Formats: sequence, structure tokens, C-alpha cells
Amino acid sequence: MKYIDQIDLKGKKVVCRFDFNVPLDEHSNITDDVRIRAALPTINYALDEGAKVIIISHLGRPKGEVVDKLSLTPVARRLSRLIGKEVALARDCIGMEVKQIVENIKPGCIVMLENLRFHKEETDNDDGFARELASYADVYVDDAFGNAHRIHASNVGITKYVNECALGFLMKKELNYFSKALENPFRPLVAVVGGSKVSDKLHALGNLVNKVDKMIIGGGMAFTFLKAMGYEIGKSIVEDNLIEAAARGIERAKKLGVKLYFPVDCVTAESRDRKAVTKIVPVQEIDPNWMGLDIGPATITLFREVLDDAKTIVWNGPMGVFEIDAFSRGTFAMAHAVASSHALTIVGGGDTDVAVHQAGESDYITYISTGGGASLHLLEGKELPAIKAIKECGD
Ligand code: AMP
Repeated sequence: MKYIDQIDLKGKKVVCRFDFNVPLDEHSNITDDVRIRAALPTINYALDEGAKVIIISHLGRPKGEVVDKLSLTPVARRLSRLIGKEVALARDCIGMEVKQIVENIKPGCIVMLENLRFHKEETDNDDGFARELASYADVYVDDAFGNAHRIHASNVGITKYVNECALGFLMKKELNYFSKALENPFRPLVAVVGGSKVSDKLHALGNLVNKVDKMIIGGGMAFTFLKAMGYEIGKSIVEDNLIEAAARGIERAKKLGVKLYFPVDCVTAESRDRKAVTKIVPVQEIDPNWMGLDIGPATITLFREVLDDAKTIVWNGPMGVFEIDAFSRGTFAMAHAVASSHALTIVGGGDTDVAVHQAGESDYITYISTGGGASLHLLEGKELPAIKAIKECGD
């Protein structure tokens, strides 16, 4: 597998796939440009090497239709500002007009093609569509980590029709951090897993239990485990069909000598309403008509202590319904604890990343992944389809 700096780019047409799926407000203003900034090392390198840079990306879910609000116009404008260079935006990503634009591009210049997902062939991994995208490229560079768990034309299909493929610097960084944490970590390695459902993270839990020394389970998913241990969990979120799997997971952890930690108290309410009256109770005392919506203060103290001697921490998923003030303390306390630890700390998963920013701790985390789904895929121990495609390119 090659990286961009192992390929000669001078004067070549280099198609770069990025994940510029940035959040927009109702006026199409970009509210967070982290994903554009994360692409700059690759873009600047390609420009410095004298490549003709052709950028492709998706934005939102237009489902194969042209949706004006999901045009890459604001992205091209922001990128242009960030690199201090004009970024022309083509009106489409395929067709005669694009072909001509690509043919006329000069070394050291950039053109961005319009949202790939305006064509449903992109998500269908359509062969003809992939071949057309590939026809613009002497070299293909994939730096779209956020999309790397998908099998789409612009990240998998395309690699069959380009002779030289490589990964960009963002991909390199993401893969390096996850491999540092999971393959040869400084120990103790602690996984902190939260979020709403066990089902979303069952495979990740199954893989992590083989690698970690300790595992903290918080958030809504903890209640399925607590129920498996025989607690009354009231109306807390639960997946009854996974209670047995949760019980088996606890047994497996015991056998492997992995220490598991669950909430010992929680913030409860009768509903998720912002104005609901709240009560902090030990997990043994959850009212049958109430639900647990955040970890309580005793749990925060416990989890903090668990993290104390950690040398590596991987965190995915909030500890409670942090979008609502009354249920946000546990998640923010976890953000402070992870940030102030002496460990190598890696945060992945869209929501967790938002929580860390809101807690004001993003500068104190070693690495915040730019891809929720893709990072979960890595935690599951699976190879990302986009990476596999790059490895097989030119075979
Ligand atoms: P996920 O996408 O699986 O990481 O889950 C994130 C979501 O889990 C957030 O939107 C939280 O509001 C939600 N969540 C966390 N804790 C709880 C809980 N105790 N009950 C219900 N939802 C929760």
C-alpha cells in the first residue's frame, strides 16, 4: 500500500477523494470546517509537487438528485480561502464539460468537481461511473477517511481503473493512531464505550474485549448490561434481544481477565424532556417508571479512578444524553478526565467528538478521529474497504 509521498506527482492529473461532508446551517454556511482543514496537508503537498489537482467529494445525502443546498460551492470557497488559491468548481462531476476542464488544468492548480452523490451511481458503486471518474486520473489519492467504510464508486470502484493509487496524509494519521492504540499499545489500555445502543457497537465491544485491559461501559447501552446483571432499570433504554449477548460478554471479559466497569449511579427522570425533574440514584434504586439518562457523580468518581493509570485510552460514545444540559455532566466529566490523563487518548465517533468540543477539551486530546463510522469499523477490527481497494490497485 502506498502513500501520496511515495508517488511522483509532477505534472500529473491527481484525483483526490476527500470527505468534505461538513455541517451547514440553513443558509448553507459551514458551521465546522475541521474536515476541510484535515485535507490541507495532502492538498498542499500535491500542489507543491506540481500536480494538477482534481478534488472529488460528497456532501450530505442528496440520494442521486441535484439538490442546490448540497452544492460544494461553500466548500470550494472555504478551501480557496484556506490555501490562498483559486478553487474552481465544475458544475458536475461527470460529462463532457468536466472532461474539458480536467484536460485544461495547469500544474499546481486545483479544480473541484460537484457533489458526487448528485448521481446515485456513486453510492451504487456503479462501474461506468467509477470508470468515468478514473478517466480524469493519472494518479488516484484517497484521503476520505470519513467515507472509508463505504463501498462507493469514488473510493472503491475507481481503483480498478487507475494504474497508480495511494492514500493521503489524513488516512495515514488515522490509521497510525488506531494501530498505535489497538495493535501495540502502551498499557494499561482502557476502552470507554457509550452511546445509545449495544447493537451499534456489539462487534466493536467483541473485538475490544480481546485487546484492552479495562473497559468502561456507560451511556444508554449500559442499561442492557445492568439488566443482564439483574438490576431493575425502569424505563431506561434497553435492547431486550441483546441481554443474553451482554451476559455472555461479561463472562468473556471475566475469562480474559479484562476488568469491566459499569455505572454505579445515574441521573434519572420520568422523560427526556429538558425541563423534567431529575433524581440521582444508585443503580439499585432506579424507579420502575423513571429512566437513566446520564451517569451519576459516584460513577464519575469511579470512572476517573479507572482512567488514572491508563497509558492509552480509546473513547467512543457519550455517557448520557449530553445534548440536554441536565444529562450532560457525565459526558463532560469524562471529556475532562480523558483530556487530563497522561495517556495517549483517541476519541472517535461523531457524537463523542462534538461532546469533547463542547467541553472545551479538544486541544487536549491526542487525536480526534474525523470519521465516526470508519473509526467504529477499525474498533471492530475490520479492514476498511477503501484501504483494501488501494492495496489491490494495479494488481
Ligand atoms: P451513538 O450514536 O450510539 O454513539 O449514541 C449517541 C447518542 O446516545 C446520543 O445522542 C445520546 O443522547 C444517546 N444516549 C446516551 N446515553 C443515553 C441514555 N442513557 N439514554 C438514552 N440515550 C442515550
